[in-house]
Amino acid sequence: MKTAAYAAQSAESELEPIEIERRQLGDNDVHIDIEYCGVCHSDIHTAHNDWGGTVYPVVPGHEIIGRVKAVGDKVSNFKQGQLVGVGCMVDSCQTCSACDDDLEQYCENGATMTYGSEDPVLGGPTHGGYSNQIVVDEKFVLNVSEKLDTKAVAPLLCAGITTYSPLRQWNVKKGDKVGVVGLGGLGHMGVKLANAMGAEVVMITTSPEKGKDAKRLGAKEVLVSKDEDAMKQHMGSFDFILNTVPVPHDLNPYVGLLKRDATMVLVGALEPLPDLHGAGLILGRKRIAGSLIGGIKETQEMLDFCAEHDIVSDVEMIDMQDINTAFKRVMDSDVKYRFVIDMKSLKS
Ligand code: NAP
Ligand code: ZN
Repeated sequence: MKTAAYAAQSAESELEPIEIERRQLGDNDVHIDIEYCGVCHSDIHTAHNDWGGTVYPVVPGHEIIGRVKAVGDKVSNFKQGQLVGVGCMVDSCQTCSACDDDLEQYCENGATMTYGSEDPVLGGPTHGGYSNQIVVDEKFVLNVSEKLDTKAVAPLLCAGITTYSPLRQWNVKKGDKVGVVGLGGLGHMGVKLANAMGAEVVMITTSPEKGKDAKRLGAKEVLVSKDEDAMKQHMGSFDFILNTVPVPHDLNPYVGLLKRDATMVLVGALEPLPDLHGAGLILGRKRIAGSLIGGIKETQEMLDFCAEHDIVSDVEMIDMQDINTAFKRVMDSDVKYRFVIDMKSLKS
């Protein structure tokens, strides 16, 4: 089955229209008409081959919202017309200890990511949500509440779960002082979610002009990381820090902000980081950790939490044809706070 999509043909080229193949509906598959797809900074890293290993053409997109067009004979949880989501993964082995623990993102045999993995059925790379249709095993399809603004739910499928999961794993609770570093797609969801969990959120940003927005999103305070005096005043005071910065950067000033025994979780920079001073960690028994998206069960839990607390993303809608401008604006930290593509603009 053919469907329209947008792809990058090389690390240097802009995204352009392409026609791709989707598999025929299998017994356990859900065929989805894609309505919206969020634009994650990972889409850009992958299109530009920042992390190496990108197979071209690549069709990015892993914040997918759509309606079920058809279901396979053995599908029990979804029906035609239902509002559903697909995030960063579309398959995993289902037999390793990570999959047994509902942590498919850490599948020991390698999860099949929504784009850029080996397609287990068609061969070649999997293709993401910058397209009109997708066919996904029902185990990797999420149920989406009709209660929320559908287009603003799309970013929850990656930005939402990537920030929700570490906040839960590190047991962020009422009254904790939580820092969120970087007010972009992930960061703005981190502020909303930590706030809904009862934390006292401090937005840590390089962009003082975003301060007003940070407070509207739920931050109690704004800390400009370039302001050394302000950083000094917050030394040793944070219970937890979520760091979404998308590029290599100096971690030492942020480690200094942590309390004894506190943790900073990195979700943004998937690459070598500059020198870390051991004393910063050793003298306060502090920790730096990492976290990758979240499992399917936890993603459903996050979607249900957001429906209960009326949490969606702040989105700027674009047509598919505007994607290259949107990529540039994300790289310039000029997004409020997630671009979402209206797939009606992409004709089959
Ligand atoms: P984004 O929308 O571009 O937001 C990143 C924010 O970081 C920017 O808005 C900016 O905020 C800040 N920033 C940018 N450059 C910086 C620099 N040089 N120094 C300090 N701060 C800087 O990106 P995103 O979509 O939220 O994604 C963030 C990162 O997470 C990306 O690298 C993405 O690939 C990664 N990611 C990881 C996972 C995972 O599972 N771990 C999942 C999704 C995405 P301020 O203007 O406030 O400083
Ligand atoms: Zn993402």
